[in-house]
Amino acid sequence: MAVARKPRYVDVTNPSLSVECPRCGLLTARFVDHCRNCGYKIWPSSEVASAAFKAWRDADPSRRAAASRFDLTLPEEPLDVVVDYAARAHELGIHLFPNSNYPFIICVGTLPLALAAIPFPSATLRIAFAVIGGLIFLYGVVGWVLVEDVRMYPAEGSPTQEVHH
Ligand SMILES: [Zn+2]
Repeated sequence: MAVARKPRYVDVTNPSLSVECPRCGLLTARFVDHCRNCGYKIWPSSEVASAAFKAWRDADPSRRAAASRFDLTLPEEPLDVVVDYAARAHELGIHLFPNSNYPFIICVGTLPLALAAIPFPSATLRIAFAVIGGLIFLYGVVGWVLVEDVRMYPAEGSPTQEVHH
């Protein structure tokens, strides 16, 4: 009767990973040989506890394959946390600015505009800076606000167009 390495009995239909300790009554890991709270010996040895855990795990691999015998509960199903923020914002009526490179152009335009503010002795130089900066700046603003934004929100940009949901 050499059955020392076999678990004496394990109820594999019970899905619980935790058990109430017979001595202290607190919840502890079901397949760890000692109670985590009071040290009471639940299994004759760690090997037996591990064998019992494997028997329990292999009884329902679909739900128990990822389980650890040191945990008190089965791992949760991973949640699908992918959120489409653009669609969500549209639903809530929040205006998102389009993802765009135009803000960089706007920033580039501000450099000549800032230079135009310096009181150089030559007035034509300042006007040239102002015109160049103004054109780049306006190009960026028009591209971002009037072109890309209208493309993203057709209903808001042009009232004649209707959006059908
Ligand atoms: Zn205990």
